[in-house]
Amino acid sequence: MTVNKPHLVVVGSVAIDWIITPRAERPESVGGSATFFSMAASYLSQVRLVGVVGRDFPDYAVADLRANGVDVSGLEIVQDGLTFRWKGQYHENMNDRTTLETHLNVFEKFQPRLPAEFRGSEYLFLANIQPRLQSDVFAQMQRPRLVGLDTMNLWISIANDDLKAVLKNVDVLTLNDEEARQLSGEHNIVKAARAVRALGPRNVVIKRGEYGALLFDADGEMFSAPALPLEDVVDPTGAGDSFAGGFMGWLARPGVEPNGASLRTAMIYGSVMASFCVEGFSYDRLKGLDAATIQRRFETFASLTNFDRASLT
Ligand code: AMP
Repeated sequence: MTVNKPHLVVVGSVAIDWIITPRAERPESVGGSATFFSMAASYLSQVRLVGVVGRDFPDYAVADLRANGVDVSGLEIVQDGLTFRWKGQYHENMNDRTTLETHLNVFEKFQPRLPAEFRGSEYLFLANIQPRLQSDVFAQMQRPRLVGLDTMNLWISIANDDLKAVLKNVDVLTLNDEEARQLSGEHNIVKAARAVRALGPRNVVIKRGEYGALLFDADGEMFSAPALPLEDVVDPTGAGDSFAGGFMGWLARPGVEPNGASLRTAMIYGSVMASFCVEGFSYDRLKGLDAATIQRRFETFASLTNFDRASLT
């Protein structure tokens, strides 16, 4: 019997970042929501990337994606344009950051055209990018089993209507706590999650940086996944996208049905991949991982929160 492995399509930014942390500065760090997502998800499922870069995008990064098994046939290279660029600075606590510059460059005129074989894929993740592009890609898919979406404050501010339109098609929304407040107008995180679910997504994951992530699922249940306390956080850029990659990557595995239990497992795989991501600049730590290393970290997460109710006083 042959088993058809499900495929996971992702559209999002593929970028060259300028990263400033309290201890270091990297002016040409390959990033982008779709890049981190793909590298993280590639250990769990078959990833198909849709995006665009310019002539300045380094060949080695495309080779790294390929080496991890990512299908890059949906990555357009525009010779007379420049890659999306983002510049961000982390504050002393490494949790808060300020965006200093965003240059859409080739994303400004991007018209995504999905390769024919991508369209029937079972899973879709609309990673952080203009909501208009997220809608374009959704419209080209035949009938995905599960659609995830991530966004950020910029798009909540300047493309609110487009974002709300695409959210109607989404099964799982991931966003950070400040973005959830901004999108819903509610300060309390539980109320914010409820208001965000009313916009369409049946499941909402609220990422809280070093404090982990909260799932508010379709049955109204809550689940909390910790972040791994690490001694040395090198560069948090891409943690949210890597979380989404681990999360969706797990759900897109053969035989995994999307339900309360698998969403919880996905929360831990998301946390695992985010914990690797922050240990290095760019996607450095997401290269060369293997199943045993990932499984060991999964067990570390399990023991971090495991307690035997009976042994407590
Ligand atoms: P994260 O740390 O997971 O929130 O994602 C960081 C990545 O998001 C960086 O590599 C940036 O290139 C990318 N990024 C920053 N701003 C935007 C934006 N407005 N749209 C799409 N991607 C962005």
